[in-house]
Amino acid sequence: MKPSPKQVAARLDELVERCRAAGMNLTPQRTVIYRALLESEDHPSPELLRDRVKQQLPAVSLATIYKTLDVLVELGLAAEVPVTGNTKRYEGNMDGHHHLVCTGCGSVTDTNAPALSKLELPKGLRGFLPKRYSVHVHGLCSTCRSTPPKKEKKSWPKN
Ligand SMILES: [Zn+2]
Ligand SMILES: [Zn+2]
Repeated sequence: MKPSPKQVAARLDELVERCRAAGMNLTPQRTVIYRALLESEDHPSPELLRDRVKQQLPAVSLATIYKTLDVLVELGLAAEVPVTGNTKRYEGNMDGHHHLVCTGCGSVTDTNAPALSKLELPKGLRGFLPKRYSVHVHGLCSTCRSTPPKKEKKSWPKN
């Protein structure tokens, strides 16, 4: 869900604090990129994010976007969404939630469907200790269901 301006402001304060705690410089670029990520609901790729900050940061390179996203992930302020495709996808929503992944257009949408948060994890996961989980539901979004895409992306996993 798109955060309110108040929530965005709170997250930007958190960025200031975490950078300070980690002894990192808070460049204006980082603030602009983080804000753009927070205001994006579509789990943008670094390329898309660069387009969104172009007006404010006309000279920003894709390498800077990638590096900034790495820093944000390291600071626990952003996450890479584990979907396969041609490029990485990121989000600033760190509240536990799940994803609807469209195999037609590649869209990734958040869902908080309570039933998905109440799954009982099996015991004996090869000695693995589960701490949290998120569910990716693959399928076709409502737009793709009404207008079939020209070609389905073959690179999306089946599970
Ligand atoms: Zn779709
Ligand atoms: Zn998400």
